[in-house]
Amino acid sequence: LLLAYDPARRLARLQINLERAVVNARMIYEILDEKPTQGDRPGAGELAVDKGEIEFRDIGFGYGKGEIVLDAVSFTAEAGKTTAIVGPSGAGKSTLISLVPRFYDPASGQVLIDGVDIATVTKKSLRHRIAYVSQQAWLFEGSIRDNLRYARPDATDAEIEDAARLANAHEFILAQPQGYDTLLGENGVNLSGGQRQRISIARALVRNAPVLLLDEATSALDNESEAAVQSALERAMKNRTVLVIAHRLSTIAKADRIVVMQAGRVVEIGNHADLSAAKGGLYARLQAFSEMAQPETSSAAEAEAEGS
Ligand code: ATP
Repeated sequence: LLLAYDPARRLARLQINLERAVVNARMIYEILDEKPTQGDRPGAGELAVDKGEIEFRDIGFGYGKGEIVLDAVSFTAEAGKTTAIVGPSGAGKSTLISLVPRFYDPASGQVLIDGVDIATVTKKSLRHRIAYVSQQAWLFEGSIRDNLRYARPDATDAEIEDAARLANAHEFILAQPQGYDTLLGENGVNLSGGQRQRISIARALVRNAPVLLLDEATSALDNESEAAVQSALERAMKNRTVLVIAHRLSTIAKADRIVVMQAGRVVEIGNHADLSAAKGGLYARLQAFSEMAQPETSSAAEAEAEGS
């Protein structure tokens, strides 16, 4: 929805994406880490998630002194629903979701899960309740089974296979030379982009956490992989509180709620129909731009078909 189309901006974007690959790998690794780094308050308790509602309450944040990356951000991501975060590059979308697993703590305001300030609980208990799927499917050298079990070391083989089935990954995993024991990486097989994404979705399903953070892929897959990845994602999103940094119009249009960000602030909140109708609003303007810029993309056409 919000991509830049002239070549110079594309190049700049590529650079950002390379940097983001590193950040994303770190985010996945740290979410899955059993011993998160320091930062628990003395006497911090365990987070008990009931419904999984996430509230951002008057959040202020900057990476450097005096810098404002998030400014008075307040909204609630309803339990069990999908909230899409959209906005131009640099609006603060990634920064906002990185506050949920506490990669950073806000300078002011609070993030609450089911009414509990997450700064008051242990990072380990917090991160146990969170799964993360990034646009770069991050896999390590080792077997496919190891890559899936990493999300929850005590998962049984049956649980791992169930997750892979839901993620449309079971069939192609069985078709590999050693099935689930096939090695990935330099000394093993190379999977296609769509297959890698389905493994990372299966990994999130193995984790079986009530909160799912999703940074939606912008890169194009072929139609068949695209459909398999989308249906896997839809299953992973079901009955979870999902915060998705959304780029595809089809995802955005289906979200229960859309939060539009610009320059660190929330500028609009609503569903697709309401925001599209708010002529002159940022969402309506971005949408017009994206439809003009890419009239033939399948996601735009698909969303149009759904909307009619
Ligand atoms: P995009 O769609 O391009 O990913 P975004 O809306 O996710 O953008 P952020 O990545 O959250 O925006 O970036 C918001 C601002 O914070 C930008 O000015 C960015 O340069 C800055 N920023 C992001 N990450 C860091 C970091 N680790 N250290 C310093 N500044 C950062």
